[in-house]
Amino acid sequence: MQKEFDYADVTLIAPDAAMSPAVHGGRAKCLQRLVRLGMPVPTTVALSFAAVRKIAAGEVPDINAILQPFGPEPLLSVRPSSQSPDWGGPGAILNVGMCDSRYEAMCGQIGEQAATSLYLRFIQSYATHVARLDDEAFDLPEIPDRAALARVMQAYEEEAEERFPQDVRRQLSDILGSMSRAWEGTSARLLRRAKGAPPDAGLGLVVQAMALGVGQGECGSGVIQFVDPSTGQPQVRGRYLSQSQGRDALSAPSGALYLTRDPRGPSLEEQLPETFGDLIAYGDRTRTRLREEMQLEFTLDGGQLAILDAVRVARTSRATVRIAVDLALDGVISPEEAVTRVDPAALSELLHRQVDPAASRDRVTRGIAASPGAATGRIVLTANDAQASAARGEDCILVRRETSSEDIRGMHAAVGVLTMRGGVTSHAAVIGRGLGLPCVVGASDLRIDRKHKVLIAADGRQFREGDVVTVDGTTGDVLAGEPAMLEAALDEAFQQLLTWADDFRDIGVRANADTPADAQTARNFAAEGIGLCRTEHMFFEGERLSVMREMIFADKGEDRTAVLERLLPMQRADFMDLFEIMAGHPVCIRLFDPPLHEFLPSDNAGIRELADVLDLQLSDVTRRIEELEEYNPMLGMRGVRLGITVPEIYEMQARAIFEATIAASRKGAAVVPEIMIPLVSAMREVELVKNRLDAIAVKVRNETGASFTYRLGVMVETPRAALRAGDIALHSAFLSFGTNDLTQMTYGLSRDDAGRFMSAYVQQRVYDEDPFHTLDLEGVGELLTMGAERARDAVPDIVLSICGEHGGARSAIEFSRQRGLNYVSCSPFRVPIARLSAAQLAL
Ligand code: PEP
Ligand code: MG
Repeated sequence: MQKEFDYADVTLIAPDAAMSPAVHGGRAKCLQRLVRLGMPVPTTVALSFAAVRKIAAGEVPDINAILQPFGPEPLLSVRPSSQSPDWGGPGAILNVGMCDSRYEAMCGQIGEQAATSLYLRFIQSYATHVARLDDEAFDLPEIPDRAALARVMQAYEEEAEERFPQDVRRQLSDILGSMSRAWEGTSARLLRRAKGAPPDAGLGLVVQAMALGVGQGECGSGVIQFVDPSTGQPQVRGRYLSQSQGRDALSAPSGALYLTRDPRGPSLEEQLPETFGDLIAYGDRTRTRLREEMQLEFTLDGGQLAILDAVRVARTSRATVRIAVDLALDGVISPEEAVTRVDPAALSELLHRQVDPAASRDRVTRGIAASPGAATGRIVLTANDAQASAARGEDCILVRRETSSEDIRGMHAAVGVLTMRGGVTSHAAVIGRGLGLPCVVGASDLRIDRKHKVLIAADGRQFREGDVVTVDGTTGDVLAGEPAMLEAALDEAFQQLLTWADDFRDIGVRANADTPADAQTARNFAAEGIGLCRTEHMFFEGERLSVMREMIFADKGEDRTAVLERLLPMQRADFMDLFEIMAGHPVCIRLFDPPLHEFLPSDNAGIRELADVLDLQLSDVTRRIEELEEYNPMLGMRGVRLGITVPEIYEMQARAIFEATIAASRKGAAVVPEIMIPLVSAMREVELVKNRLDAIAVKVRNETGASFTYRLGVMVETPRAALRAGDIALHSAFLSFGTNDLTQMTYGLSRDDAGRFMSAYVQQRVYDEDPFHTLDLEGVGELLTMGAERARDAVPDIVLSICGEHGGARSAIEFSRQRGLNYVSCSPFRVPIARLSAAQLAL
């Protein structure tokens, strides 16, 4: 049974009408604003979400009430008005009200061809979108004449088994019904949910008097906006086409006018300077009063300008930043609002080169997007080949099953990295992010045939060494060839936005930086210090690796000390560089962490070479390597365990840090180094290391006569360290949660192997998300909370932070703020994203 339609839900858009985006949708509210700004908007009626819901449920709208403001024989358009324009909605329908008698009258007024075109377009939209007839029968004919019209009418009658509706009431009623039901359809729901719409998102509809755009005098339609959608720079853009409707001007093959003077052809500015001037004035008014860059849809009808609609200008991430900053600089919005208008994740697009969204993509496979940005180069399969390629000045993509420490030099030489194994915290991913190197990991359906030096894709396509591919670390795509790219854009607008962000945020942001180059990047992105310097990465470079290996092969402590003395000046120089670049900002140096085994060669050629260098028998070398092998190296002899059992390494590092501190302080920067002990699980470990470091500090002070201090801290990255944070804190100036290892150990999940089944686990909702990517607030988070509380109870002013890969993510920053942590530390390229997220969370 049909219920009576309650037309209290129908509102004539007028300056004083009660309207809101949550009741009538964004378009209706925007049109009301334009009316209030005195713009010539044709008569418009808005149907609320409630009205549309009733229509979808079968209630019959009171069409007479809706039509009443339009006078007799109206011609109308109907458009969707959802709460957010991003949530979509059914397409607009124009020229509602066209019928045979109207057509005949219009032939006299605007000419037969123009009238026929209008009528045909309406029949086409009605037939396909409302009567839901097969669209093939209603293609627009090339020559819009009476014969074509008769054919289309006949097609309609045959398909719909009725005459084409002639009454505007029936037409409008059917159109409203069809649009209302379309919004409730499953695919429309799924589409808008994917864009963030709530399950009960409503649709409003606007019914507007047509400003025809065809007819006598100057008639036509156009679109105008006042910024470049790619860069956000001020620029008048758009087109105008005489005798046209809707957005025809934008797709017209020819005949459309440029808006401003243009050497390529005639312009609206030259031909209709008054109209052009009005449009510029309206643009200015919308910008300042709607506080947004809008695109205006307009019509000329016998020379009369009408503004039909205004929508937020579609824009790239780069333009989003520029527009927000320009609006704030012009005083249209506040800096706080500018900061909240930019999605932090979108900044990543500005920080790296990207595949041009308009470019076509020849996708070979999709892996895990591990380090953002895109790079094109020739395939190389070994680190040595990557170095050779760089030496020739040729960009290369290093392709490995997985990377290990031995590949670091190759990664430095490559422009991008692709691995078949690993997840977001695998070696390749962590180093890639640190270097700002585009990286795709876990592309498990690619195979490397080493013998023939080819990469084989799942579809059988083969890529030889030297073939050009592109890794898109933003999406995880591996593409054949070289698509068009967009360059990084760290322009003034970007810097300004982040300077504002820093004014508002209330949690520190440091960077994880291992090398002077990382530190420089971190400073360029205004990191407030280094939160984690993984010193072991310094031992893989050049001759240092050989010295490390010699040290590993030394049997006695004093032999080890002697070898390490050769590393001392190199480490000292590393630290001096870091102190100088960070110019007085804190630098937190983590003592040596990985298992020694990582420094030894794994292939026969490498083992032979090492035997040569060390002047040892091949069997001695092999035996030593076997001795160092562990079943579970990540849970074995690494971190502080190595520091306690092979103390010479930490002693050398401490001396290098202290000597660099003295040297850098003499040069001007007052340095108080922070030294951090990895993989602690018991208080006694901290005591033992502290005693040794204190002893070295005393020695260095005595030797040099210089005075300096240092701050000792502990990485909380084993569950036990979190549980015992209270007594560990007693010996520490700071604690930093290493959430990579803490996640690995809390789940009992190998961070280097989990990539293999992670997608199956996430797909089946075992985990909501990859916990190495998104901090697990429930489990790992509870350990963090406990650790932070216990540490603060014992030492109220202890400095707390997160330095795992999660550190730059919004959810981890939010969590850290709630738990009162002092700072987060993340890869240098995530620093700007973290700064913006932190500011938004504080506002
Ligand atoms: C961690 O475990 O969270 C951490 C920062 O250290 P790494 O990634 O070097 O193990
Ligand atoms: Mg760790």
